[in-house]
Amino acid sequence: MTTIPHWIDGARTTGVSTRTSPVFNPATGEAAKEVVLAEQSDVDLAVASSLKAAVSWSESSLSTRTRILFAYRQLLHSHRDELAAIITSEHGKVLSDAAGEVQRGLEVVEFACGIPQLLKGEHSEQVSRGVDAYSIRQPLGVVAGITPFNFPVMVPMWMFPIAIASGNTFVLKPSERDPSASVRLAELFSEAGLPDGVLNVLHGDAFAVNALLDHRDISAVSFVGSTPIAKHVYSRGTANGKRVQALGGAKNHMVVLPDADLDGAADAAVSAGYGSAGERCMAISVVVAVGDTGDELVEKIASRTRELTTLPGTDPDAQMGPLVTGVHRDKVKSYVDAGEQEGASLVVDGRGYAPEGHENGFWLAPTLFDHVTPEMSVYTDEIFGPVLSVVRVPTFEDAVELVNANQYGNGTAVYTGDGLAAREYQRRVHVGMVGINVPIPVPMAYYSFGGWKDSLFGDTHVHGAEGVKFYTRAKAITARWPRQHGVDLGFPTHG
Ligand code: NAD
Repeated sequence: MTTIPHWIDGARTTGVSTRTSPVFNPATGEAAKEVVLAEQSDVDLAVASSLKAAVSWSESSLSTRTRILFAYRQLLHSHRDELAAIITSEHGKVLSDAAGEVQRGLEVVEFACGIPQLLKGEHSEQVSRGVDAYSIRQPLGVVAGITPFNFPVMVPMWMFPIAIASGNTFVLKPSERDPSASVRLAELFSEAGLPDGVLNVLHGDAFAVNALLDHRDISAVSFVGSTPIAKHVYSRGTANGKRVQALGGAKNHMVVLPDADLDGAADAAVSAGYGSAGERCMAISVVVAVGDTGDELVEKIASRTRELTTLPGTDPDAQMGPLVTGVHRDKVKSYVDAGEQEGASLVVDGRGYAPEGHENGFWLAPTLFDHVTPEMSVYTDEIFGPVLSVVRVPTFEDAVELVNANQYGNGTAVYTGDGLAAREYQRRVHVGMVGINVPIPVPMAYYSFGGWKDSLFGDTHVHGAEGVKFYTRAKAITARWPRQHGVDLGFPTHG
């Protein structure tokens, strides 16, 4: 049994707690590893290390930070395959998908390499006679990141490269389901020259999360995970006076208009619905077939779905891997059972599948429902698995109404050849990220990522300019270098 340790103060450590949690290989179902789960003294140790490191790190020059970030970027690039293999061994996604995840995380480091440009303030000369005004942005101190299982490399990297580049120190609490990658990310950052304590990795469960939310030395918390936990993190963190951004769950609709290229739309629905076994917050889980597109579109999606190969993520022929744990697989399967009972048409049934020789893995093959209605649990709930639902609506207006009535507002896509319809959809939809003939519109690192409604609590999205804003606070300065003095009790005005 391998024990996955914390990374505190530049070293691997198993800490004080004796509590652990099993870490599975989803393709085999084996739990050959366990991860330590922090108790209070482990949390205190990690935060104290980050607090101490913050004193000198916040004083480090922008050139020093940039040099370390460039070195880190290079190391991530050369360890891309190793990181992808770690992801696949604990998450289950196929290797090429895992490598793509590393790439998207790396792009945030590339963005953070531009921190000298990003931290430039404003300056107004002569706002009054002999008076200048300017603004600067300063780091917050120690910030924490709490991340989900589905992107064990990319989501932590949405956060810590920008927080650290901005002069903060960071305590990362990764998902306990696939925790190894985060330790390797921290180790590589250390190899790139990052001082000890600037990035600590603290493993744990709800206990560690709550201890971080209550810790007086943590200034801000970035969270990504499910909506109920995001709500909890937002309310507890803000009640404790912290700055919080908490990204939650999703139910992403892909609206297919009658004039769309239906082959292209079917390719996109299958790719975005079943990629990473549907365990992506930007996965398409609902296809909205508008007008008379339904029969043809469902047939095209079904034929593609039946051809997908579901195999261990390390198999070069795999297009989809297993689900992350047996518990999660069983939950997803229970939604398929419910959808059938509630009267949706089960077009492709992925239940009961297991590849030969891997019968104990956490398998569920791609599953497709047609004639789903908004009251069914397959529609209302985030399933987070390889289950795609088709809802049929008569008109564009009905499609917009359906999407806007949904609790979530993370991502959405519209498939059409009509630019005006696409523009109308983009303007009216209550969703944070919109794709036009693009099924998974994840913004580039230099834009900001975030949803609306129950997909995000707080007012700042992650990475891009909003990321820099979240991890810094503004100071406005008014300066005068007078040659003459005199008392003046009037209210200061310009002139
Ligand atoms: P999760 O909410 O179960 O866990 C997220 C984090 O919260 C983990 O670090 C976990 O240890 C911690 N946590 C779990 N239960 C807790 C509790 N009761 N109290 C305090 N902390 C707790 O999410 P998950 O299953 O790991 O990830 C999948 C979810 O994340 C999906 O809902 C998905 O949509 C969402 N997600 C959202 C985005 C986004 O950008 N909006 C991105 C990725 C994933």
